[in-house]
Amino acid sequence: MAIRTEEQLIAFVQETVRLTPVTDIHTHLFAESFGDLLLWGVDDLLTYHYLIAEMFRFRPDLSYDDFWRMSKTERADLIWQTLFIDHSPYSEACRGVVTVLNRLGFDLSTRDLESYRAYFREVQASDYIDRILELAGVKTVVMTNDPFDDYERERWSGGGSTDPRFLAALRIDPLLNGWDSAYMKLQQQGYAVTQDFSGDTAAEVRRFLHDWIGRMNPLYMAVSLPNDFAYPEPSLRGRVIDECILPVAEEAGIPFALMIGVKRKVNPSLKDAGDSLGYSDIGAVERIVSGHPNVKFLVTMLSRENQHELAVTARKNRNLLIFGCWWFLNNPSLIEEITRMRLELLGGSVIPQHSDCRVLDQLLYKWDHSRTIIAKVLGDKYTDLLRAGWRLEEDEIRRDVEGLLGGAFWTFLGKPDPSAK
Ligand SMILES: [Zn+2]
Repeated sequence: MAIRTEEQLIAFVQETVRLTPVTDIHTHLFAESFGDLLLWGVDDLLTYHYLIAEMFRFRPDLSYDDFWRMSKTERADLIWQTLFIDHSPYSEACRGVVTVLNRLGFDLSTRDLESYRAYFREVQASDYIDRILELAGVKTVVMTNDPFDDYERERWSGGGSTDPRFLAALRIDPLLNGWDSAYMKLQQQGYAVTQDFSGDTAAEVRRFLHDWIGRMNPLYMAVSLPNDFAYPEPSLRGRVIDECILPVAEEAGIPFALMIGVKRKVNPSLKDAGDSLGYSDIGAVERIVSGHPNVKFLVTMLSRENQHELAVTARKNRNLLIFGCWWFLNNPSLIEEITRMRLELLGGSVIPQHSDCRVLDQLLYKWDHSRTIIAKVLGDKYTDLLRAGWRLEEDEIRRDVEGLLGGAFWTFLGKPDPSAK
């Protein structure tokens, strides 16, 4: 059916974005079979590292050591009191918790954390996973799977994910960011590698990657990189990329995902909450992407200042798909600015958002909040088209939204969306 008026258009876009199921292309969530790796519930939500960093700003009197000595429940109590009772929770990370509690149907007027906890003591993980995915409108979740983690490796020897909604991504950070300890773990797994990368090391790393690709069937290989990432580079990281990862990505036909711009441990006392960001050299992305036209690259960058040049780089390289508003960019004002710019430069050949959730419940707020912004920006773009004289069909808008919420990812992979009927 054709869209006739601007009011009809906006309502239809909002409704379509709200109801179209998402493929969430990067998360730290896990299927139930991964046991303790899956975090969920109000205490995990409150003790997430975003909120820890925000709490400390209001508590100059509290020593870091005292906080880290607390139990999870005590930390959650403290964060609830500081960020939700003593102050209004309008930062994005805090508003996210409010959205989650509201969407779960809790009475927010009581502000009674104990009563919210009571629900989580009764519910089973499998039922909760179903409930959250349903409420969040997420059909497929891409995990982050670490073959260097002993606990996770055991889960894979037990068969990995049997839940078709949870798909794998092979995370290889230790190979690129910590070779001096990674090589020992490879040796323990039976690979003949050396610390100085001599002899058969490169071939053995390739064998390791192929073995894990066979075991996990990952959609891509992924790494997070520091803001001073350089390419090419006469370093061990440079060799691992050139001699191992790029050839394997091409042979296996899966993308290499780079998440660039992390500055680790700018305040080590904050532990997981102590990482920051820095501006990165887009030249590194230009060179790796254009130098390997037969490899597919998924790239997201952490610095706001890199976003425009990253979008332009994607215009120049069809083997590059940019995705998401990552971590410190996941704020409404920045998501709107970045999404608007990307749609203007790239049309629908982009993945506007991924959730990066570590706690299952966060899916509710990440996608609620992002959908609102994506619908707003898309509504503006279609309104401009309508005013320019273009006539739009409802089916065309549906097609476009499906692309932005995951279809473009599957097309880029060259694989059918497994959840498609
Ligand atoms: Zn992540």
